[in-house]
Order: sequence, then C-alpha cells, then structure tokens
Amino acid sequence: MMKLTIGFLYGRLMNIYGDRGNVVTLAQRARWRGIEVETVTINAGDDLDPERCDVYVFGGGQDREQFVVADDLAAGTGERLKAAVEGGAAVLSVCGGYQLLGHYYRPHGHEELRGLGLIDAHTVAGDTRFIGNVALGGPLGNLIGFENHSGRTYLGSGALALGTVTKGSGNNGEDGTEGAFTGKVYGTYMHGPVLPKNPALADRILQEALERRNGPVSLPPLDDTLEVRAHESARARP
Ligand code: GLN
Repeated sequence: MMKLTIGFLYGRLMNIYGDRGNVVTLAQRARWRGIEVETVTINAGDDLDPERCDVYVFGGGQDREQFVVADDLAAGTGERLKAAVEGGAAVLSVCGGYQLLGHYYRPHGHEELRGLGLIDAHTVAGDTRFIGNVALGGPLGNLIGFENHSGRTYLGSGALALGTVTKGSGNNGEDGTEGAFTGKVYGTYMHGPVLPKNPALADRILQEALERRNGPVSLPPLDDTLEVRAHESARARP
C-alpha cells in the first residue's frame, strides 16, 4: 500500500478562507484510492524534516502573520523546504504562502520580506484589495476559486501562469495571469479552498506527491460528479 504524508505548513498562522480544506482534499482523495495518509502540521519554530513529507500545503495569511513566517523561513525552514522540493516533494501555496515562495513580498510601509525563490515571481502590496470569485483557463484546465489580496504578483520567465482569468483579478489585475507553477511547486491566489472544486488539479498534485517515493503513479479515476457540479455552480456565479 502506498503512503502519503502531507505537511500543513504554518497551519496555525497561514490558514485563512478555508485553505486547510486543501489538506483535507488531498488526504481524502488519497484515502478513496486505498492510500494510507499521515498529516503533520509544521509551525513556526518546528524542525522541518526534508525527507518526511511528500506534499506541503502553505495557506494564506495576513501581513502580520507573514512577518512571523518570513522570519521562520529565513531562520532555516526555508532551506529545508527547498531541500524537500529538490528531493521530489510537491507544494501547493495559496496567496500569502504563494507570495513567500517568490523572490520577495513588499508589504505596505515595510521593507521586503525575503521569499524562497521557488517560484520566479515577486509581489508588492497594492492600494486596493482584489476580492471576489475567480475563474481561469490555462494549461491545467479551467479552474475556479475566491481571491482576497492586496498583493500584486509579477511572474518572471521561469514561472508558468496557472492560466488567464476570465473572472476576477488574478496575480496583479493587469496582465490577466493567475497563479504560477514550476516543477511540482504551485502558487495561486485562489482560496475557497481551491482543491475540492478543482479535482483535476488536486489529483495532479496528489500524483506528483506520490511519485516522490513510488516512481510513476497512475491514479484510478474517482466519481467526481459532486465536485464537477460544485465547480460549474461556482463558475456560473458573477
Ligand atoms: N497579506 C497578503 C495580501 O494581502 C496575503 C493575503 C492572503 O493570504 N489572503 O496580499
């Protein structure tokens, strides 16, 4: 039997707008396939073991939480997370977590918070907040979610966008892009949580996580009738 170990990164600090639901979704979609699942929460000050987890979920948070997290990342957790990625772990980062996986995030009236550079992007706080439903189409298919951020994220050439928004503001409200991915590292502004109503994205990340220790993995399909209905219902919202 395969086993999946999920790391909920800064679960106490970075978990707004339902982002913990991404942990639940990955766990349940694995269990439905008979895969054993362990979930660990890694908080500030904890030792992140680069060998332990197959996938990390790094949720969103307000600026004040990001200050604490950025310090903890700089104190060593960041290098250990990068080692985990180099070792084949996948990462799903959302909003504030996404911002800290780029090169830097510059909040209002504050110096830049250094990011990990796992995603070729940088973020600066804007004067207004982007709040509302998001829909996009791109290389990973049609995705939907909910955004609430002031940060404007600009992608470098090393990052592919998750797609182009047909609803909402996305990365920066200017270039039409939303999110980014490079290798097994994904970033998005979509809360909600993003994975339950985007089952194909959930399974993509789940498969990549399992491949860390199992080689090529083919996941048997699930009955996603409910997930697809929820997706279409959300897509139809203004
Ligand atoms: N503080 C960041 C911003 O406002 C991230 C917010 C969030 O994670 N929702 O852009």
